[in-house]
Amino acid sequence: MTHLVWFRTDLRCADNPALSHACRQTDTVVAVFFLTPAQWQQHGLGPRKIQLLHNRALTLQQELADRGIPLLILHGDTFSHSLQLLQALCTDLAVKSVSFNSEYEVNERHRDIQFVRWCREQGTECNRFHDQCLLPPGAVETRQQLPFKVFTPFKKAWLPLAERQLSAPLAAPVPRPPLAAQLQQAISRWQQENPLPAAQPDPLWPVAEDAAHEKLEAFIGGRLSAYKNQRDIPSAPATSQLSFELSLGILSPRQCLYSAVQANHGQLSGGNAGADCWISELIWREFYRHLLVAFPQLCKHRAFKEDTESVRWRSSEDDFRRWSEGRTGYPIVDAAIIQLRQTGWMHNRLRMISAMFLSKHLLIDWRRGEAFFNYWLVDADLAANNGGWQWSASTGADGVPYFRIFNPVTQSERFDAEGEFIAAMLPQLASLPASSRQWPAPAERQRCDYPQPVVEHKFARQRALDAFKNSRADAVTEEIR
Ligand SMILES: Cc1cc2nc3c(=O)[nH]c(=O)nc-3n(C[C@H](O)[C@H](O)[C@H](O)COP(=O)(O)OP(=O)(O)OC[C@H]3O[C@@H](n4cnc5c(N)ncnc54)[C@H](O)[C@@H]3O)c2cc1C
Repeated sequence: MTHLVWFRTDLRCADNPALSHACRQTDTVVAVFFLTPAQWQQHGLGPRKIQLLHNRALTLQQELADRGIPLLILHGDTFSHSLQLLQALCTDLAVKSVSFNSEYEVNERHRDIQFVRWCREQGTECNRFHDQCLLPPGAVETRQQLPFKVFTPFKKAWLPLAERQLSAPLAAPVPRPPLAAQLQQAISRWQQENPLPAAQPDPLWPVAEDAAHEKLEAFIGGRLSAYKNQRDIPSAPATSQLSFELSLGILSPRQCLYSAVQANHGQLSGGNAGADCWISELIWREFYRHLLVAFPQLCKHRAFKEDTESVRWRSSEDDFRRWSEGRTGYPIVDAAIIQLRQTGWMHNRLRMISAMFLSKHLLIDWRRGEAFFNYWLVDADLAANNGGWQWSASTGADGVPYFRIFNPVTQSERFDAEGEFIAAMLPQLASLPASSRQWPAPAERQRCDYPQPVVEHKFARQRALDAFKNSRADAVTEEIR
């Protein structure tokens, strides 16, 4: 009896519920992963992330092969093409059971529903698992059995449930006996017909599962205890930088949470301040995933707060270009964008500052910034990216109203006091004294070939406040009509 494991954004051997289930059922386990470049491009992923997906799939193929499990990597181009191939594969290999871990975005869910229906028609057993959150979407609800719309009460409800659920991560499968020759031949034929793309290692983003575990352990054993105090300082490598591994599923949230709890005297909260704070960030990740499922409009470029749909965003191409090229004349914003373009990652504090700058100071639609981040980030993730952008633009799930507008200069004085991060990302400003790097004088800008500010802070702030206030008035008038 052949059991097929369908890999997607769960590209790991350890703590993989679908893989573990299949391995418990039978020795005859085959795995498949679809490269769907056209679909990924349609979802706005950039070339670096797509290459990293290829790299990871190829490395996983080797890691699974070491355990006696062949991983077929097939070109599906789009989701619907991958479904056709999957059905043909199931028929050809006489697959009796399929297991996979759920994905929660709208197109992915639609694809899975179609496949489950096909399995039912064929009499093929289909097993779905949850691995992207510790507590699956829908498991954390208000007393009225409604989804939480604000983080703090969500976290309060999440913690006791998680305490009961958090168990040790599942071990990776042990090596299995070789497959029957006939099955092996069929698998080789499929792979020959689907030549594999070459891996192009990215020195900043290694993709091996062992490397991910070492990175997690190094963080937990080192920077975790100082995380609360250091995490907002972009020049300090104080955060885990594990968002990439989490986004491809090289690590599971359970592995991260379990390690943090071990280091936190067995507690999810109330122990070491650094561990508490890091666990809280992982709960933010869960919160945004739960929201995505409860409010599917978030997958369709819609604002969480409906009344903000009538904000009159500006459509200045020139301003958007200056922001996206790191030429706004606000050093901390520009340094953030340069970090993103150079490394594929941006520090969380800078994501908030730069997102708020685009949506508030430049009053440009947050959806444009969301798409830009999605293209450049190696950790691009619809739930977290959408959540972060909507939070920054005050259109999202947040109790604080629209008048939270960061002053980028004050922010850089607080979090990059010596201008170290600015100097590292904008070398043209490195020769300036630390005190000038946050906000160079006009003559210093000219001397350093650094742009004059794209907009004046006080003016921009007022313009954003007016736009949000007017949008509320517009929304009310609309209702009366
Ligand atoms: C505008 C904006 C866009 C963002 N886009 C993404 C994105 O596409 N992908 C992504 O993974 N995160 C996104 N985030 C959240 C956060 O910035 C990153 O997860 C974090 O910077 C990753 O660095 P780290 O792994 O060192 O995080 P750590 O500080 O070490 O946190 C540990 C993990 O918790 C999760 N996490 C931390 N903060 C958040 C948060 N605010 N929301 C959700 N999850 C969080 C991440 O998985 C992270 O790896 C975005 C935030 C903002 C404000």
